[in-house]
Amino acid sequence: MRGGGRETGGRTQSVENRRHQVVVIGSGFGGLFGTKHLKRADVDITLISKTTSHLFQPLLYQVATGILSVGEIAPATRLVLRKQKNAQVLLGDVIDIDLEAKTVTSRLLNQNTVTPFDSLIVATGAQQSYFGNNQFATYAPGMKTIDDALELRGRILGSFEGAELATSQEMRDRLLTFVVVGAGPTGVELAGQIAELADRTLEGTFHNIDPRDARVVLLEGAGAVLGPMGPKLGNKAKRRLEKMGVEIQLNAMVTDIDALGVTVKDADGTIRRIESSCKVWSAGVQASPLGKMLAERSDGTEVDRAGRVVVEPDLTIKGHPNVFVVGDLMSVPGVPGQAQGAIQGATYAAKAIKAGLHGQAPQDRKPFKYFNKGSMATVSRFNAVCQVGKLEFSGFIAWLAWLALHLYYLIGYRSRIITVIQWFVTFLGRSRGQMAATEQWVFARLALEQVNSDEEEADELAAALGAPPADNGKLAEKAKAAIEGRVS
Ligand SMILES: Cc1cc2nc3c(=O)[nH]c(=O)nc-3n(C[C@H](O)[C@H](O)[C@H](O)COP(=O)(O)OP(=O)(O)OC[C@H]3O[C@@H](n4cnc5c(N)ncnc54)[C@H](O)[C@@H]3O)c2cc1C
Repeated sequence: MRGGGRETGGRTQSVENRRHQVVVIGSGFGGLFGTKHLKRADVDITLISKTTSHLFQPLLYQVATGILSVGEIAPATRLVLRKQKNAQVLLGDVIDIDLEAKTVTSRLLNQNTVTPFDSLIVATGAQQSYFGNNQFATYAPGMKTIDDALELRGRILGSFEGAELATSQEMRDRLLTFVVVGAGPTGVELAGQIAELADRTLEGTFHNIDPRDARVVLLEGAGAVLGPMGPKLGNKAKRRLEKMGVEIQLNAMVTDIDALGVTVKDADGTIRRIESSCKVWSAGVQASPLGKMLAERSDGTEVDRAGRVVVEPDLTIKGHPNVFVVGDLMSVPGVPGQAQGAIQGATYAAKAIKAGLHGQAPQDRKPFKYFNKGSMATVSRFNAVCQVGKLEFSGFIAWLAWLALHLYYLIGYRSRIITVIQWFVTFLGRSRGQMAATEQWVFARLALEQVNSDEEEADELAAALGAPPADNGKLAEKAKAAIEGRVS
């Protein structure tokens, strides 16, 4: 870092004669676009992220269902920013932000690094929310990270493999029932792809089962599919999914999830069970905990129910006009938790920092204005729904628009070319290029939880899995059996 002032492992670099220091936290849409927009500015940028890549979350479901590999949707941030000489990338989990000392502390393994800043852009996004039922995560992973997508791929494909070996019809049915919780864009896309995987890709590849017997159930607590996109597009997506054999159950609240299935409460109060080994959670989001930390340390900034920071009109926090919060972590009325919100917020913050270098006072900043470019979701191959302003369209044209837009926003020519080839193979043929799955992908999350948990937490996890505390030593084994649906 040129003229930086970082302290790492007890070492402090000189802070003399340094340029304006910008620290960006997060390498998602907000972090990456914020950094790129400062390329020609007279600043030094340090981008700190706990992941080494820029993850294109909208295509995670294609990794989970064997269409794309991780490399296509998650290029290394370091390589993406190679040519941006005023930026450097640090791997680390940000554990502290000192607003008075203007420093960010990040941690990698057991080493803390303190990085000073003049301006700060925080873009740490959101994670899965189980609405207070975190125990559901054991059996129903969400889809927010590369690990989640690979785990899901392993669980989905593993269920078909288990069904081939099932020793009873009950076990076979359970293994061939896939439950997706939440009928937003992610739930719709995933349910559609599991159905296509079963009907097209896997058809004729097993001896004891017919993958087309798979049951895909999409559960939604509200009364509509794709609620925010309105009834017209929601109903189109619903009809298309139903035509593909997906069972859509609306006004169905999930009240419990265990190894063998899901408990659902209907609008009329009926409680029922769906026996299923493979469950996916795509029902809610919770902002990164750094939002709460920032709000508590500011001069009265609040967070909303999802933990997002209620920012000032210039996307800063109260009393700190040099600290911007953007993307899924910010709460701004009318701005959805979508890539466009993050990109536009980050661009605004970068421009405000540049204007500040040219003498603009914070109070002279124009408020952030969001330009809604619309939203879209794929339902199946050749079919999507799309909303741009008042214009709503669906079907093949919407699908082509979806393909073009996603290709445009994918980072790097290499990723785009390989993605087009993979789509060609999948959508025109019946094959999929990324059908490998390993045992490690399926079980590593729970095993890590076990390693990281203290005794009390291990007891809780064991109890959640139905094991007595004395069985803690065999927790990973239990988890494995539970996920596979082998627990009787
Ligand atoms: C499955 C899925 C599908 C989606 N589909 C669409 C879609 O079709 N269209 C659309 O517009 N939007 C979609 N979205 C939403 C979109 O991806 C998000 O709105 C967008 O990624 C938000 O960008 P962000 O930069 O705020 O956060 P993110 O992209 O989530 O990035 C957060 C970054 O912060 C890092 N980080 C987090 N905590 C820390 C920490 N403590 N220390 C250091 N680094 C940290 C993470 O590693 C990550 O790099 C989808 C999201 C998901 C999960």
